[in-house]
Amino acid sequence: MATIEQVAETKTPARETLEPVKESPRMAAAIRREITDDQICILTFDRPDSAANIFDRATLEELSQHLDFIAGNNALRGLILISAKKSIFIAGADLHSMSQFTDPADLDSLIRLGQRTFDQIETLSIPTIGAIHGASVGGGYEICLACDYRIASSDRATKIGLPETQLGILPAWGGSTRLPRLIGLPKALDIILGGKTVAAKHALKLGMIDEVVHKEYLLDYARSLVTKRGNKLMRRRKPLLTRLVNTRLAARLITKRVQPQLHKKTGGHYPALPKALEVATEGISRSVAGSLDLERRAILDLSENDASKNLIRLFFLQERAKKLTAGTGAGKWTARRIAVIGAGVMGAGIAQWTASRDVQVVLRDINAEQVAKGMTTIAKLFAEGSKRKVFTPVEARAAMDRISPVGVEVPLKNADIVIEAAVEKMDLKKQIFSKLDDLAGADTILATNTSALSVSELAAATRHPERVIGIHFFNPVHRMQLVEVVVGRQTSPEVVNRAVKFVQQIGKLPVVVKDSPGFLVNRILMPYLIEAGQLFENGASTENIDQAMLEFGMPMGPLRLIDEVGVDVANHVAETIAENFAARLRTPGLLGAMMQDSLLGRKNGKGFYLHDKRSKGSVVNADAERFKKGTSAAALTRHELRMRMVLLMINEAARCLEEGIVGEAADVDLGMVMGTGFAPFRGGPLRYADSAGVPQLVEEMYKLAAKGERQFAPCALLEKMAAQQEKFYPQKGKSI
Ligand code: NAD
Repeated sequence: MATIEQVAETKTPARETLEPVKESPRMAAAIRREITDDQICILTFDRPDSAANIFDRATLEELSQHLDFIAGNNALRGLILISAKKSIFIAGADLHSMSQFTDPADLDSLIRLGQRTFDQIETLSIPTIGAIHGASVGGGYEICLACDYRIASSDRATKIGLPETQLGILPAWGGSTRLPRLIGLPKALDIILGGKTVAAKHALKLGMIDEVVHKEYLLDYARSLVTKRGNKLMRRRKPLLTRLVNTRLAARLITKRVQPQLHKKTGGHYPALPKALEVATEGISRSVAGSLDLERRAILDLSENDASKNLIRLFFLQERAKKLTAGTGAGKWTARRIAVIGAGVMGAGIAQWTASRDVQVVLRDINAEQVAKGMTTIAKLFAEGSKRKVFTPVEARAAMDRISPVGVEVPLKNADIVIEAAVEKMDLKKQIFSKLDDLAGADTILATNTSALSVSELAAATRHPERVIGIHFFNPVHRMQLVEVVVGRQTSPEVVNRAVKFVQQIGKLPVVVKDSPGFLVNRILMPYLIEAGQLFENGASTENIDQAMLEFGMPMGPLRLIDEVGVDVANHVAETIAENFAARLRTPGLLGAMMQDSLLGRKNGKGFYLHDKRSKGSVVNADAERFKKGTSAAALTRHELRMRMVLLMINEAARCLEEGIVGEAADVDLGMVMGTGFAPFRGGPLRYADSAGVPQLVEEMYKLAAKGERQFAPCALLEKMAAQQEKFYPQKGKSI
């Protein structure tokens, strides 16, 4: 790796800007061409009016024209590709236009264009260097793979990888062909099948790039490489190990091992994974052109699939949440200081995450001992983050220093936001909020992380209900991206606006919801968990209930989820919700009874499963059988079990829309996928309802409701939609 000193010593001649190339119709548009006086061509990607560079058809055509020019210019000694953007090299293909294609021929033509253009780079007779600063993902890394040499900045913004399989497709501009050739099949498959994006230093270790330099020296260093090493950059022999693992035999062995693992992990719901495995392993023993052809055919197949459409749509929903504006309020407000009250599981998690995003945090609990416990949790989270290379130890230390622990009441006048994360008791929370009237500043936002209590009722305990809002994080905070911004009856639009900005500022995804029992996510989740509990009570087995939903694509079954959350916590939220919707939901007796008998789930080692050191949650707890009360559900097939649980989620999701808890179907779907892991390839409960057919689902609901099970009676919105054959997303094929 080049050190800063080495680079600083490198002298490179001055750069001279040439006039734009006239042959391209969009010359000023996306790429600038310059030729230095030592005949190095620099192509700078700088898409106008955008923070990102992306590859659409016009940019690829523009690039191709530059490459024609370069190929025809014998005086040139090297080519450097670089970006002018602050934090993005090239963010990959333009997914928006790709998702609007209605004719597969359009996609075919775009794939061919990208492959041909990157081939032009590969076949140039001069050394080519990808000089990466910022995100270099998908097509943004595939272009670098076509270069002879890759250097990247050590900056945190630099992220390199091939995330395509997460979108239900595969790298088809040479990534599935060239990455295995560069770093060997096993490491390449780890990146491609994991849809992984890694930091520069990690990419260097894997061989995905050749050197890491400080961002200030990126271009100068690239130029010095061309000057000093010239054509030697082009004739680099692959390491022996890479050649050994890229044989036909090794590919066959890898396939045999990986294929069943993939199936086990995904239940066959993600066709992009076996397809990417097939392309990479078969491609290795073909010519580059033959392997590129496999890539192209594979992406055409996959793009026809609902899974890829749903996954790409979810990507758009996440992008939309990142840019969401809500309420009113102008300007670039940012939170600089916050206070977190309660240093338990959630308070510690919120403090750790927020401090890691450059915000000062006061962390308060009832006494020094409780705060110290919270700080220990935080130190552990930072240590794990450093181990996983999310932060360097220095960054972790600096973030930890941003947290001021206090075990007594202190004035919080300077806090932009106070987030209360004390125990889930209304009286206690009211006390805390009423004291905030004096402790907090005149503009401080007063937020609660409550899971199920009424934000409006809490607001009534202060003299400033307009400043009270819910900022509801999910557990564990460092993993869950979704945050519900809960708008109380009197919350001011400006406070909503700032709360949304805060969530975005710290890199989470906001969904704005109306204050109502369970808000959005828990409200939809609870009828499902309650049903799972009742099915268990009525004789269905733990294995069948959980397996039914795993087969549907949930990350874990409902009974295991209850164990993970804690039987007591699940019971408390279920009670709150069942009380509020008593006409159709019954408080599950089972959870209360299990709680009484100290079956609390993972936290104390036993619940529906055994979580002791030996069984680690893999063994069903036979002792829980004694809570069964009947046999009416014992003979239900997994299909029937699944149907009941899924119908209840859809019914509740539709109710949330009907009652205006959120504004759009897309909010429900994003919330459920990001908040509960609802089978992402199905696109969320309402997207799934569309694909299964609302009239058919309503028919099933009527059948079950007719047997006296009132929870299945479809809500008015579903009845109307079924009668009028409507869909939640009427424009088929459109992105959102
Ligand atoms: P916890 O029991 O782990 O922590 C609560 C902390 O609050 C304790 O450290 C306690 O000492 C402290 N506390 C109690 N009274 C206080 C006071 N007057 N002033 C300051 N601190 C006080 O609870 P938790 O799981 O972190 O939950 C906190 C809140 O977050 C609850 O409202 C809960 O419903 C909500 N929530 C929990 C989860 C979850 O999965 N645990 C998820 C989302 C939201």
